Amino acid sequence: MTKPDQNGVIGIVGAGTMGRGIAQVAATYGYSVILQDITNDVLQDAEFRLKKILYRLEEKGRLEGTTAKQILDRIQLVDNLDTFQECGLVIEAIIENREMKQRLFGELETIVLGDCILSTNTSSLSITSIASACQKPERVLGIHFFNPAPLMPLVEIIPGIRTGESIISDAQSLISEWGKTTVRAKDTPGFIVNRIARPFYGEALRILEEGIADAASIDWAMREIGGFRMGPFELMDLIGNDVNLKVTETVFEEFFYDPRFKPSFTQKRMVEAGFLGKKSGQGYYNYIENAENPKPKQDQNLGEEIFFRILVMLINEAIDAVFLNIASKEDVDLAMTKGVNYPKGLLEWAEEIGLEKVLAKLQELQDEYGEDRYRPNLLLKKMVRNKQKFYD
Ligand code: NAD
Repeated sequence: MTKPDQNGVIGIVGAGTMGRGIAQVAATYGYSVILQDITNDVLQDAEFRLKKILYRLEEKGRLEGTTAKQILDRIQLVDNLDTFQECGLVIEAIIENREMKQRLFGELETIVLGDCILSTNTSSLSITSIASACQKPERVLGIHFFNPAPLMPLVEIIPGIRTGESIISDAQSLISEWGKTTVRAKDTPGFIVNRIARPFYGEALRILEEGIADAASIDWAMREIGGFRMGPFELMDLIGNDVNLKVTETVFEEFFYDPRFKPSFTQKRMVEAGFLGKKSGQGYYNYIENAENPKPKQDQNLGEEIFFRILVMLINEAIDAVFLNIASKEDVDLAMTKGVNYPKGLLEWAEEIGLEKVLAKLQELQDEYGEDRYRPNLLLKKMVRNKQKFYD
């Protein structure tokens, strides 16, 4: 199997948020794209949005050496898979449902040629389970873009258990040609970013539930003291509380109910109340025009306490990902800075603070709460004991 070049066609299944964003990326880099969806309204909407975005980029002079029309001409919108035999790579971006994805992959294999690479953009499902629907599971892998795909530089490359080595390297070098930073992740729940980022939301929700601080004050601490672009509650409102709850629940189930990933009642009730965040006009904040939102308390000591508690939980997850060979230490740090805009790589940050301080805080939390969610990772304990560092 060979890497599709610019003569090869990229097939994208699902023309929703992710599918149309990925189509824009591939077509901008000179590839012909077939963008398919089963819903005609979605196809019309995708066409409308792609035109709007690309002509705006052209006006701003941001399409180097090409025009909006040239890019749009490379994207063919279709409502069936009949022409997919031309594709060298297919990227699936339909809704997050294992059975539907498996059915689609089975169908795709009856249409595409033997050397076509099949990939999924799933956020939380096992690549191996999706590949199991194929006669040739060795040609299936995860290619996980972040939202919005044209702007976010990170793409996680996730081989399934049976994926062929040449497929992985071909896919990785193709995606790098599209201007993306690629990291390789093991096929485990949440891959790198969605696994390590869980405490950003989970621990913030826990602090809120305990009444230590309100949402605005926690957000303030993470932004102003931590240097994160957005606080956890603002970010959950932006992502959508329903979407964030779904990822949390999936990661929790897929980790065989490890208490570290336990979802929060607060988040569940917000979803039940229809407080989905920005898109519904109400989440942790009110988005109706001129609405009065609570002001943060701006208590420096409390803010530092909150920030450090959330940060050590994130660092513990990052170390766990290295400990269990989910990704290399470099890829773990790259993934969090490029995929979710963290101000620093978490392992680099841990070393700046001092691994022994991180361990001491986790041990203090575990002693105080007696809960397994705060257990320090074995690799962290060993590294402190042996005075080791991640980076020299
Ligand atoms: P979306 O709901 O915006 O789009 C999904 C599209 O798939 C819909 O337009 C739907 O009509 C279409 N569809 C459903 N079944 C189909 C089928 N059998 N054949 C063809 N089209 C079909 O969803 P999205 O947010 O673009 O997510 C797509 C995938 O990308 C999911 O697996 C999701 O987990 C993943 N993902 C989403 C994000 C995100 O932030 N939205 C980020 C990374 C990955």
